[in-house]
Amino acid sequence: MSKLLIASNNQGKLLEIKALLGDMDVELLTPVQLHINIEVDEVGKTYAENAALKGRAFARASGLLTLADDTGLEVDALNGLPGLRSARFAPQSDATDADRRAYLLARLQGMPRPWLARFRCTVAIVAPSGKARFTEGVCEGEITPQERGRHGFGYDPIFMISGLNRTMAELSMDEKNRLSHRARAVRAARPILEDLLSSDPSIK
Ligand code: IMP
Repeated sequence: MSKLLIASNNQGKLLEIKALLGDMDVELLTPVQLHINIEVDEVGKTYAENAALKGRAFARASGLLTLADDTGLEVDALNGLPGLRSARFAPQSDATDADRRAYLLARLQGMPRPWLARFRCTVAIVAPSGKARFTEGVCEGEITPQERGRHGFGYDPIFMISGLNRTMAELSMDEKNRLSHRARAVRAARPILEDLLSSDPSIK
């Protein structure tokens, strides 16, 4: 069976992507299973550049077709921040997800609500040759000052989804996988994967 490496060390992302692609005729692998331990510096100027940086590093290390994603939370009242800086958006160098949420809420204190925001996710499908193809998914919502929910990860507990009176962390993984930014981007990537996997086992 053909193999696809999911280029992430984030347990939450890995679980979501595995569930989204689990029915495909491909063996889904993680970096840990292949003993690949890489930290990629996200120095790109766009989500696509960062997704490609991650995808290429893991495709090179594994020799496998690789799927990487880069995600950001864009808050209108902060002119799109944290955006590309979502993973590093807190002054502490050892900041946790909870620290980043607290810092974001502190930055929004005193600003008029609603704090409109969206998650944006770019997926890169990278062949062993380094050739990358991209898809994107967006999920609109607003930041809520009270954390709610225990599912998901990252900014999920403070992100209220448009049209639902629930945060992303109040959704089960199946529910998140029906409407999230990542679900949309990964679903859009499926035809690309199917095409690459069907045209050649050794993937260009
Ligand atoms: P990256 O895409 O791994 O670089 O993630 C950027 C930042 O966004 C990290 O702080 C993640 O925890 C957060 N993040 C990524 N995806 C999600 C998501 O689906 N929900 C909430 N936070 C996320």
